[in-house]
Amino acid sequence: MKRATKIVATIGPASSAPEVLERMIAAGVDVVRLNFSHGTAQDHIDRATAVREAARRAGREVAIMADLQGPKIRVGKFEQGKVMLAAGAGFILDATCELGNQERVGLDYVDLPRDVRPGDKLLLNDGLIELVVDRVMGSQIFTTVKVGGELSNNKGINRQGGGLTAPALTAKDMEDIKTAMALQADFVAVSFPKSATDMEMARQLANIAGAPHGIRPHMIAKIERAEAIPALAEILGASDGIMVARGDLAIEVGNAAVPALQKRMIRMAREANKVVITATQMMESMIHNPVPTRAEVSDVANAVLDGTDAVMTSAETAAGKYPIETVETMAAVCLEAEKSEHVELDHDFMDQTFTRIDQSIAAGALFTAHHLRAKAIVALTESGATALWMSRHKIHVPVFALTPQVASERKMALYRNVRPLHADASLDRDVALKQAEQLLLEHGIVRRGDTIVLTVGEPMGQPGGSNTLKIVQVGRV
Ligand code: PGA
Ligand code: MN
Repeated sequence: MKRATKIVATIGPASSAPEVLERMIAAGVDVVRLNFSHGTAQDHIDRATAVREAARRAGREVAIMADLQGPKIRVGKFEQGKVMLAAGAGFILDATCELGNQERVGLDYVDLPRDVRPGDKLLLNDGLIELVVDRVMGSQIFTTVKVGGELSNNKGINRQGGGLTAPALTAKDMEDIKTAMALQADFVAVSFPKSATDMEMARQLANIAGAPHGIRPHMIAKIERAEAIPALAEILGASDGIMVARGDLAIEVGNAAVPALQKRMIRMAREANKVVITATQMMESMIHNPVPTRAEVSDVANAVLDGTDAVMTSAETAAGKYPIETVETMAAVCLEAEKSEHVELDHDFMDQTFTRIDQSIAAGALFTAHHLRAKAIVALTESGATALWMSRHKIHVPVFALTPQVASERKMALYRNVRPLHADASLDRDVALKQAEQLLLEHGIVRRGDTIVLTVGEPMGQPGGSNTLKIVQVGRV
């Protein structure tokens, strides 16, 4: 309960067994990511069921994030499953080719030849192979291999600089949204959005598919296209959060640009009252090794210091040898990094104007708790809106968000420094506040005499209505 930064763990073949899941949750997983680029609908449904069961055994809520594949462009299959491309050789990407060979390979996006020009750089297999476009003839893109290597079936293609016209939601994504809602995903991550419209469309589809199940998921925009950078403010406006999706982003904008972009994205997300996940290759070497590299440790710690809500694992936990150790290591690195953080609330609030009542209550609670050195902030919340405001600032006082809504509890699993707890629904403020105190005592979070800061909305039971701030010493009337 001490760690503020959250952990999103991708699950896959290496982590689908109930006992592995249970140990990963015990090690600190807050949100599980189902990667819809791999596996069947039934795989995802089975995994979601296993996650819910493991979470129940662990006695806490774990959120589920359905990550849509999006328009990732891929080469087709090869006669031999793979080829070796040598630097200097010619190679053709051919939208009509059925089975590839040494000379050419097919494409799952037939419009790619229209989107590229001579001189363009195409990067394959996560940027390991580089092709330069010589000319385009009909469905064929003639290229010269600049950096060679092994190319196997269905590897991804990116164009340096972005500019591909594929729409953000494919027919597969639309089907997958239905599966995601049927398995009650709390978050839907949209791959390769370019604009607010892409996110609005995805949200609309998710809300329609979610309605029969009574769910409205939070929408996460994966920032992984060059075009998404200038559109960041509008994309944030249409999303509940973003993912710094460094894998594809690095290919489109160049590796060296990513660290500064990560800092900018995290700052912009927090200022816009949105959540942010930092993703990809964070503990990459732990796919094979039980300990990370020094550079990976620094990367996770720096994301924490940048202010990310969550750090994410991909193949480390989905297909790696050490899924449990990866989560344990990440948790330890986050916790240690948080200790060195500066609390700059006075500075944070200096040029701020508060326009909303719940936002003002949240800010007041942070400020008060910080200066009074309170043991905890306790937010009685329906939708989690107050807890979200509170989580946008660094503070060393933990926020306990008490809610009767399971859906809110799960969404708050992603909010930095917010520990969601289940509370009974109550319409009486004084009863609810007493219950909150009791719950914190029972969990051993506070002791008699500790100062805590509570927020609540009156009338109770309405979302976004926090309007009351109370400072109490536990156990005294
Ligand atoms: P992916 O997204 O793992 O779905 O490709 C993350 C990234 O590109 O960094
Ligand atoms: Mn990606």
